[in-house]
Amino acid sequence: MRIYDILKKKRDGYELNSEEIDFFIESYTNDVISDYHASAMLMAMFINGMSEKESAFLTKAMLHSGDIVDLSGIEGIKVDKHSTGGVGDTTTLIVGPIVAACGVPVAKMSGRGLGHTGGTLDKLESIPGFKIERTMDEFIKQVNDCGLAVISQTNNIVPADKKLYKLRDVTATVDSIPLIAGSIMSKKLASGSDAILLDVKVGSGAFMKNIEDAKSLAKEMVSIGKIMKKKTVAVITDMNQPLGNAIGNSLEVKEAIEVLKGEGPEDLRTLCIELSARLVTLGNNMSYDEAKELVIRSINDGSALRKFSEFILSQGGKKEFILDDKLLPEASFRYGINAEKSGYLSELNSEEIGISAMILGAGRENYDSKIDYSAGIVLTKKIGDFVSKGEMIAEFHYNDTQLLENAKQRFTNAYIIKDERPTMNPLIYQIIE
Ligand code: URA
Ligand code: CA
Repeated sequence: MRIYDILKKKRDGYELNSEEIDFFIESYTNDVISDYHASAMLMAMFINGMSEKESAFLTKAMLHSGDIVDLSGIEGIKVDKHSTGGVGDTTTLIVGPIVAACGVPVAKMSGRGLGHTGGTLDKLESIPGFKIERTMDEFIKQVNDCGLAVISQTNNIVPADKKLYKLRDVTATVDSIPLIAGSIMSKKLASGSDAILLDVKVGSGAFMKNIEDAKSLAKEMVSIGKIMKKKTVAVITDMNQPLGNAIGNSLEVKEAIEVLKGEGPEDLRTLCIELSARLVTLGNNMSYDEAKELVIRSINDGSALRKFSEFILSQGGKKEFILDDKLLPEASFRYGINAEKSGYLSELNSEEIGISAMILGAGRENYDSKIDYSAGIVLTKKIGDFVSKGEMIAEFHYNDTQLLENAKQRFTNAYIIKDERPTMNPLIYQIIE
């Protein structure tokens, strides 16, 4: 087989077979072919699209480029949740403990944040003492003992994706539905869980800007799951404004604790209950209604919050902060963004707000940027709220005063105040099974 012939075939719009896709992935992972071959292939895949079969072949080839985690040492049906990436998406910190409290084991490997989106590992590391590195044996033992563990992805999970993603990032081939589907599903399938729940975000802060694209991505991933014989459900949810009020690492940990206490922002709480109920349905083989009842009970009776503190303690974190959140890192300075006129808040662009928070120190501009765990933004108004002139829309938390001006500038692009009340997007658009 020659890579040149495979490139020509894909360029001319023909469907590649599994041997050809295996050859491409294997030889690129092992440095047998060059970045220019892979770049050309990615662009051909981007422009010509891929059939359902090709997507599944790609996912399978990527999945087998590295290790597949063996979670058979954990009793019960292991479930995993994955979000396609958003702003202020604190759900894993809340859903993990709820689902574990409902008796379904959660063995989760998470990632770090980049650009305008945050990462679960960074949020957890803002908790003093918390460790994200665990051996596979420790990981499995913790899930058996506590029901929940969240660690960083081991090095040799889908090495093909690590190489390809870097290349996609610099060749304008990130936002392709089959390439995203292959990238996400290969990693989820390699992580060893028995069932997968996908939270496909749509809107200003998401890869998918409109509902049709989000549906296509969701359907493609569910179809790959089906072909690979892994129960997969997708929930399409709104990312036209940040989720909850807090954006930033320790700020989001505080928000997660509020929701686990039965308080916190309405949208975040509603979405967490929905995702948890779907996961408990998958893990306990029960009806959605029964699962939802169990989920709500775990919040009301405090068992989800107790599970959270057990989980934090198991991974080296200090749990005192759950009773006193002043023990979490706090920024030295606050700055309020005030409305320049009265009216209805009709836009809160997630991407712009995510970038503002990143500028304040809450996120990474490049892979090696350092994070300020206490920095971020707390929204005091959300889309649809009425604001009076001079009233605060958001509060910045920061330590480096030199960053403030730039973040303020960026935030002015993020919101619009209008005289008429805006039409509201649903929080949950569709479930695809
Ligand atoms: N998240 C991923 O893991 N891969 C993509 O390609 C896009 C989002
Ligand atoms: Ca949030």
